[in-house]
Amino acid sequence: MSVILSCPHCHTGNRLDPARLADNPNCGACKQPLLSGAPLEATAANLIELLQHAPLPIVLDFWAPWCGPCRMFAPTFAATAADWAGRALFVKVNTEAEPMLAQQFQIRSIPTLMIWQNGEIAAQMAGALPASQFAAWLGQTIR
Ligand SMILES: [Zn+2]
Repeated sequence: MSVILSCPHCHTGNRLDPARLADNPNCGACKQPLLSGAPLEATAANLIELLQHAPLPIVLDFWAPWCGPCRMFAPTFAATAADWAGRALFVKVNTEAEPMLAQQFQIRSIPTLMIWQNGEIAAQMAGALPASQFAAWLGQTIR
């Protein structure tokens, strides 16, 4: 079982067992931490594996480059990802690049935010949130 994750520092693809994500793995190319608190970019090639096998809760942001509220929310998502490093994985899905994923997950408006735990959806909401409300929503769901 393995997924390919793009390194947030050098963008090299790293193939690893999702269970290893709890061990704070380093990039094979640049040796920096793959999970440095920066959101990961998911594609159809790795999202399902991540959701089913990651040892941490996953917070998903379904967004698109043309969506103004999505772009405004991106810094909040990134800052919150850094705050939650080691407790949850923050993953972005570009619905313009990955329309099949948007269809599969029945995304009707963007941004749509989801929290996955134990291979299933624990919470979902549509629309961007202020940082304080986003953190509160995460805190209610992720234990
Ligand atoms: Zn790297």
